[in-house]
Amino acid sequence: MRSVEEHQRAVAGLITARAPVDVAIGDALGLVLAADVVAPLALPGFDNSAMDGYAVVAEDIADATEDHPVKLPVAEDIPAGRTDALVLEPGTAHRIMTGAPLPTGATAVIPVEATDGSTEIVSIRASVRPGQHVRRAGEDVTPGTTVLHAGQVLTPAALGLAAALGLGSLRVVPRQRVLVMSTGSELVAPGTPLQPGQIYESNAVMLAAAVRDAGADVVTSSMTEDDVDLFRAELQKNAGDADLVITTGGVSAGAYEVVKDSLADEVEFVKVAMQPGMPQGSGVVWGTPIVTLPGNPVSALVSFEVFIRAPLRAAMGLPHPGRPRRPATLLENLKSPPGRRQFRRGVVDHDGGTVTSYGPPASHHLRWLASADCLLEIAEDVTELEAGSPVQVWDLS
Ligand code: AMP
Ligand code: MG
Repeated sequence: MRSVEEHQRAVAGLITARAPVDVAIGDALGLVLAADVVAPLALPGFDNSAMDGYAVVAEDIADATEDHPVKLPVAEDIPAGRTDALVLEPGTAHRIMTGAPLPTGATAVIPVEATDGSTEIVSIRASVRPGQHVRRAGEDVTPGTTVLHAGQVLTPAALGLAAALGLGSLRVVPRQRVLVMSTGSELVAPGTPLQPGQIYESNAVMLAAAVRDAGADVVTSSMTEDDVDLFRAELQKNAGDADLVITTGGVSAGAYEVVKDSLADEVEFVKVAMQPGMPQGSGVVWGTPIVTLPGNPVSALVSFEVFIRAPLRAAMGLPHPGRPRRPATLLENLKSPPGRRQFRRGVVDHDGGTVTSYGPPASHHLRWLASADCLLEIAEDVTELEAGSPVQVWDLS
């Protein structure tokens, strides 16, 4: 049997980053920058007003007070967006709005609140220091400054900065494209009638969601019968569009194991010393890496967590690609099979640092996984754990 770590290495070795691409900033949220961003221009781009008020020569209103206002003729009106170059003559004021370009010759802005707001002859009741309420060109960013760094995850603020610098697209590490395929002649799509002996297909939607939750894209998630020709045809049709194929089902020891029967040459099928999720496989089909997961829903999702999620995220350059793992104190007695790494579903109390298992260990009990917030990892050589024991949990929340 292969160890968990050996199979983790086998899977991680298959998943590689795509070449960087340029994407529109509107589509870049959550992606990782592939190149530094150097500011092509200054921010602010020009001296402008920080307030709604009047552009003035500061000395002209040095003596203005509540009791002795200074009156200045208003020579211009400058809303934000006015593009012509204006000159302020000493002894006059220009009415100016926040963000509007400061006229040449003006040295400060007096806020409208300290005036009577006139558009003819403004009465000003306070003085200003030279430079006050003026935003200087380049005080935020000077051209040539590296403002975003390769490897950085693009947040809303980072995208806002790129837009402010006039950048319509950014060079990023593209999302991995993942083809999810489930197999089983007993499966029917949710929302259609169920015949006796049939069950609703749940792995495809679950793994597609897990892929997206990991930050990757789903190419198509299709479902096929346990028929070698149909399965291979469906796989061949779609594999070329994907960076990774994930299949579920058809890899255990029974008959009609469609994935095993179809991919004997391309995939190495192994037993991994874990529970759930013992039958696993990995390889390359039509040039695309493939990981074959077992069919039981809990096995499939736990296997995705243990083998695929971290390398998939790492291939997109995401920092901290793995789930956070922390120690916790077990609140109950538990048994675990010898020679297997057991991943129980658990509920963790972060304040108290304690964890309880959630539901039975069997791999078809999806209900419990849906409400669990951690995986509880029990080592291969541990068969019994007493309440109060330290355990490791994988934080899924
Ligand atoms: P298999 O590995 O194909 O033998 O499947 C193991 C168990 O998981 C069987 O009970 C299947 O019916 C069930 N199973 C396999 N694939 C799916 C699926 N996509 N959705 C729900 N149950 C599945
Ligand atoms: Mg099956």
